[in-house]
Amino acid sequence: MDLDQVKKSIRNIPDYPKPGIHFKDVSTAYQNSDVFNFVVTEIYDKYKNAGITKVVGIESRGFILGGVLANKLHAGFIPIRKPGKLPAKIFSKSYQLEYGFDTLEIHQDALESNDVVLIHDDLLATGGTVSAAIELVNLFGVSQIYANFFIELDFLHGLGKIDSSVPVWSLIHF
Ligand code: AMP
Repeated sequence: MDLDQVKKSIRNIPDYPKPGIHFKDVSTAYQNSDVFNFVVTEIYDKYKNAGITKVVGIESRGFILGGVLANKLHAGFIPIRKPGKLPAKIFSKSYQLEYGFDTLEIHQDALESNDVVLIHDDLLATGGTVSAAIELVNLFGVSQIYANFFIELDFLHGLGKIDSSVPVWSLIHF
């Protein structure tokens, strides 16, 4: 298994969910056990010595690898969710997406100031989603935030939008 094979396993859906968006369907990568295992191991290896105490996964595709990574890193898992899904007291942040507007929420008791946080999502496009997630995590005054993506769309320059104090690393680049 190598990165080229992983790249080929990601299905491209033109004009989904609306014209002009080329959707990267990660389900075709995750359904292959060899690809799934390779991807998890590569991301785990990158962060295994970073002292991560919490993995924050962004709904919904960020939950898939996020949960597995949290378990391998012996870290807790924290969901950042779309509006109205979290049952207890929440912090909320609205943001612009590649295709529309959205809001993200996190439980007010999810993190503590001594946490070292790895935010994970499946894909970095314009950077709006992860920037909102970083703002939410920053409310807790945590000691360090890292951000990781399975896929980064380089041509959208999302990296430039992300707070420079947050080290960002993506496994696959298109
Ligand atoms: P952005 O806020 O523009 O960085 O968008 C990132 C979020 O939107 C991630 O949660 C992705 O799952 C989703 N997303 C945006 N663009 C795409 C795309 N071309 N293919 C798949 N998912 C996308």
